[in-house]
Amino acid sequence: MEEITKTKEELERTKMELGILYEISNAMRTTLKLDEILYIILTGVTAHIGLGFNRALLFLVNEKDGLIEGKMGIGPETGEEANRIWSQIEADKMDLEDLINAYKISGSANDVTESGFNPQIKRLKIPLREQSGGILALGVLDGMPLHLTGETIQNYAHDPVLQILKTDELIVVPLKAKDKVNGLILADNFITKEPITKDDIRMLIMLANQAGLAIENSQLYERTVMRAHSDSLTELWNHGYFQYILQVEIEKAKAGSLPLSLIMLDIDDFKVYNDALGHQAGDNILKELAVILKNQSRKMDYVCRYGGEEFTIILPQTDKNETFVIAERLRERILKHPFSHKEILPSQQLTASLGVSSFPKDGSSPSQLILASDKALYQAKSKGKNSTCC
Ligand code: GH3
Ligand code: MG
Ligand code: MG
Repeated sequence: MEEITKTKEELERTKMELGILYEISNAMRTTLKLDEILYIILTGVTAHIGLGFNRALLFLVNEKDGLIEGKMGIGPETGEEANRIWSQIEADKMDLEDLINAYKISGSANDVTESGFNPQIKRLKIPLREQSGGILALGVLDGMPLHLTGETIQNYAHDPVLQILKTDELIVVPLKAKDKVNGLILADNFITKEPITKDDIRMLIMLANQAGLAIENSQLYERTVMRAHSDSLTELWNHGYFQYILQVEIEKAKAGSLPLSLIMLDIDDFKVYNDALGHQAGDNILKELAVILKNQSRKMDYVCRYGGEEFTIILPQTDKNETFVIAERLRERILKHPFSHKEILPSQQLTASLGVSSFPKDGSSPSQLILASDKALYQAKSKGKNSTCC
């Protein structure tokens, strides 16, 4: 009799586990956006109706730079916070799907699940080397789950991740795609102090197997999209993407009653440079200029190659006065840059002319703004080049 009850219980648990995994892997299939995938994974690991860990972190391997990079962390930091978050979720009757939809709409974890340590995690970049990489490097290089308990965790007291987490029990599970580790999930029960069981670990490993593949798919997709939208010479956004994103950003500006500006930039007397030194030398200038434009712009700006030796920059949430200052700073930066053989140019300097237009002042459609910037650029040229006009 006892035997039957036990088997029945096990069956029930397996059924529930499969249900949870099924729900999470279905959710992962609803998107190809990497940040949404990561959020779905971590929500699955922490949600009460999911695996039920208190906190979860996700790291991805950056093979190119030999680093393990922190991407996301969710879960409460203190008991108080835990009470607030968990009772909120309870009160709002939020299930896995609700939590994920809330994220997709707002583009970030809301105050309900966003964790205080998330910014610290995102700043972490750990070298992928056995000696200096701590538990993360160990997890990636071994490719095996690592369960740190009361005693073993002492050996890693100086580990940068453990210094943030201050936990006394932790599970580290590698994410794999085609037998290659592409990331790690870390999870703990920092608040409730519930021991991590064999069943918890088994579930996490099953989830990680799905997650690794979903992450790889999404990375491949994002890389393909990036390539399709990038200019191959300069690696800036190409003309097609510029047109698309300008429309999108104008719509956002309209919806939020925010300004938006557009800079159009054209190199002065570039034909002279090309004719004297050849097309290849000209291309090198374009590449070098692209780096300057990129370095001088903010993260939210879109730097694009409009065509030939013309560039555009879309500046969301920026009005004309601010943009004029930015454009002038750019012009001076270009003027001072030691481009090779610039002395062969008529002014013995490599310079650019810039035209600025702004929404809503100069227009409310992409073509109106482009026309206005183009006009201003033409003015700058006729004023004698190396200048900015609005
Ligand atoms: P302006 O000061 O009036 O702008 O004079 P400009 O000589 O720069 O004239 P324009 O803006 O019409 O520049 C077009 C020249 O830019 C033609 C060509 O020599 C050069 N150019 C355009 N696209 C490329 C490119 O992809 N690579 C190289 N190397 N040169 C290019
Ligand atoms: Mg031109
Ligand atoms: Mg030119």
